[in-house]
Amino acid sequence: MIPYGKQNISEQDISAVVDVLRSDWLTQGPKVPEFEVAIANYCNAKYACATNSATSALHLACLALDVGKDDIVWTSPISFVASANCAVYCGARVDFVDIDIATGNLSVEKLAAKLEHAKQNNMLPKVIIPVHLAGQSCDMERIFALTQQYQIKIIEDASHAIGAKYQNNPVGCCKYSDITVFSFHPVKIITSAEGGMATCNDALLAKRMKRLRSHGITNDPVEMTEPSHGPWYYQQIELGYNYRMTELHAALGISQFARLDQFTTKRNQLAQSYISALTALPIEHLQQNPNCYSSYHLFIVRLLSDNKQQHAKLISTLRQQGITSHLHYIPIHLQPYYQQLGFRVGDFPNAEKYYQQAMTIPLYPDLTQNEQQTVIETIKTALCD
Ligand SMILES: *Cc1c(COP(=O)(O)O)cnc(C)c1O
Repeated sequence: MIPYGKQNISEQDISAVVDVLRSDWLTQGPKVPEFEVAIANYCNAKYACATNSATSALHLACLALDVGKDDIVWTSPISFVASANCAVYCGARVDFVDIDIATGNLSVEKLAAKLEHAKQNNMLPKVIIPVHLAGQSCDMERIFALTQQYQIKIIEDASHAIGAKYQNNPVGCCKYSDITVFSFHPVKIITSAEGGMATCNDALLAKRMKRLRSHGITNDPVEMTEPSHGPWYYQQIELGYNYRMTELHAALGISQFARLDQFTTKRNQLAQSYISALTALPIEHLQQNPNCYSSYHLFIVRLLSDNKQQHAKLISTLRQQGITSHLHYIPIHLQPYYQQLGFRVGDFPNAEKYYQQAMTIPLYPDLTQNEQQTVIETIKTALCD
């Protein structure tokens, strides 16, 4: 069985977790802040807030930017549902910006047109959440330039993109955004089992996310409404959640982080092998922009065929041969929940066309040359049938 993605766990990772189990702290100890500092430094960001998932981090990011009822949030229809759900959690209205089918990322042209239209109708979003599909950054400089005149905030959903670069800066530096969110789910680039992280350069945003991560409770006398009652005293000053990362998860994350660049280098090498091997076929890989270095969380190809059944058949054929190809993603607006909210087939034609063509083939650091060759040969044979 060759899966589409797979974590790499070393003996060191295991010892790191076991060491925490033998320590005094299972939660709220030194490992979480250590992980936060490591990621913030790596990304050239001032602050980082670790959470128990990227979904929680996206929710906190929306809350910290004051997304609430009557607000509008835009994201890409080609993403995991969490990119949109985080805004719904806040009571906001979600809408989507169609994609550029060549990269799978949110289309800057569609964004420009949609902003113009929204301005005329007084329907401008408070926040936009671009998603860096498969590990390639969206064109953040242009997205940022378009949104600044309206004071729209930006959260980068970089769940796929730790280790990636945009204009030679690490994704997560927040040069063109307010907050960037990473996921450490096992299928992503590095893992903490479950876990996420939000980076930012604004002290108040960082403080707010950390407070909301732990019930909205503060220990800071400056934030309290009355003098402390004593050393046990704390105050809950807003409604927060328990979105904290544990020490065990942070220890695994720190240990994995030491191999981040190794992982992305390997992923890029494997991606290059696919690109050269698949050129002769009626298949296109996601177009890579020269100002981006992708972390290649996924290797996505599009089958350029007018035969609608061929796409589904190819995915099934690979699966029958023990290769778990997948499809990232089903357009979010086609999910029954979002259909209930009023979205319809035809709303985002590029996303829907992409869905008819796209498939994810295996890519992970431990994929061997032989396994990759098997994937390539199986695709070739299936397409010649
Ligand atoms: C994985 C993923 C998430 C959610 O990450 P979790 O850590 O599983 O909560 C959000 N957005 C995208 C684009 C993802 O791929």
